[in-house]
Amino acid sequence: TGFAELGIAGVLLKATHAAGFSTPKPIQVQAIPPQMEGRDIFGIAQTGSGKTAAFSLPILSKIIALGTKRRPKTCRALILAPTRELAVQIEDTIKILAKGAHISTALVLGGVSRNSQVKKIAPGVDVLVATPGRLTDLVRERDLMLADTKWLVLDEGDRMLDMGFINDVKRIARATAPDRQTALFSATMPDEIAELAKDLLKEPVRVEV
Ligand code: AMP
Repeated sequence: TGFAELGIAGVLLKATHAAGFSTPKPIQVQAIPPQMEGRDIFGIAQTGSGKTAAFSLPILSKIIALGTKRRPKTCRALILAPTRELAVQIEDTIKILAKGAHISTALVLGGVSRNSQVKKIAPGVDVLVATPGRLTDLVRERDLMLADTKWLVLDEGDRMLDMGFINDVKRIARATAPDRQTALFSATMPDEIAELAKDLLKEPVRVEV
């Protein structure tokens, strides 16, 4: 199977190949087609499995299909990661995969100027990658409304749990569109993650690599 057979937007194929991704990894083969069909995903996958592209390519495909007009003054897709390092890495990967596709991205992280982040998001961005602490802050202060955010990804759910972010994650998820599409990835599956999945995912397709 190649990326073309997985149904992602044609414009992404070039950048994906240019990034050196010629053959999809197993997590990508399993997770991309159901997400293209609009399904929620519950993925048990480790770092290094290729999960970033597995959740990004379907979201990017769908945003490309929407076009850049009438972009809501919020983020269309929100990706939550437990650490700054991971968030930066995810945004970098998305920029590479979306090269030439006119996708806007932004980062919201603790420890850096809050104002510049708010300003960058204000006109609306396609994909926002964030850590839960600072994002909760922006949502609570009403600097960011997520009601039109239709895609939500929770990456490394078990680490977000270990770091005490679980209530922030739930609060953020509740602020997004009720009809959103959601993907939850975790390397392990403690009870709290199973419960979170039950809470936030609608009839998810389970993938495990
Ligand atoms: P991730 O698990 O998303 O952090 O990805 C782990 C590493 O695999 C990253 O360095 C990616 O650039 C790389 N990668 C992801 N998908 C593919 C692919 N289909 N072919 C080659 N490399 C890939």
